[in-house]
Amino acid sequence: MAEREELTWELFGSAGRELAQQVADSGYEPDVILSIARGGLFVAGALGYALDVKNLHVMNVEFYTGVGERLELPVMLPPVPNAVDLTGAKVLVADDVADTGATLKLVRDFCADHVADVRCAVVYEKPWSEVKCEYVWRRTDRWINFAWSKQPPVIRREGQVLDA
Ligand code: 5GP
Repeated sequence: MAEREELTWELFGSAGRELAQQVADSGYEPDVILSIARGGLFVAGALGYALDVKNLHVMNVEFYTGVGERLELPVMLPPVPNAVDLTGAKVLVADDVADTGATLKLVRDFCADHVADVRCAVVYEKPWSEVKCEYVWRRTDRWINFAWSKQPPVIRREGQVLDA
């Protein structure tokens, strides 16, 4: 068996549609799709088109620094979405993978106090994830190579600081 799971661009095309179909079949009609950058942006875009949702937001969370290497805790990077934007909304959180699940837990807990409902959609979920997502395309215990992050950047930028 291959050591890694490969999500090619071609496979991602069907994954996005199938994940959206799961959401539609469940009867959930999100007002807002909240993506977790950066991998979740691709997933949120695909879900947004397939579910006909135009209201997309983004949160930046940093956790992983390399293959299997992570910070002690996931951290939200600015800008953090305005809570007012999400108040009373049915939110669908979109990410590429729930691994430990700590990133999704941070975002879900951030939403929980002021939204009407929050559910999570991921392309992959690992068996040990502390968050059990409502919508999962595939389950794996291997490291995943995503089409968008498999290749190194064309330029290296050290010590990037995001504006608040
Ligand atoms: P978690 O907080 O669930 O441990 O991890 C969330 C983030 O870590 C994902 O959105 C992704 O960016 C990164 N990550 C975790 N597992 C993998 C993996 O198997 N492959 C890749 N490429 N990134 C991963």
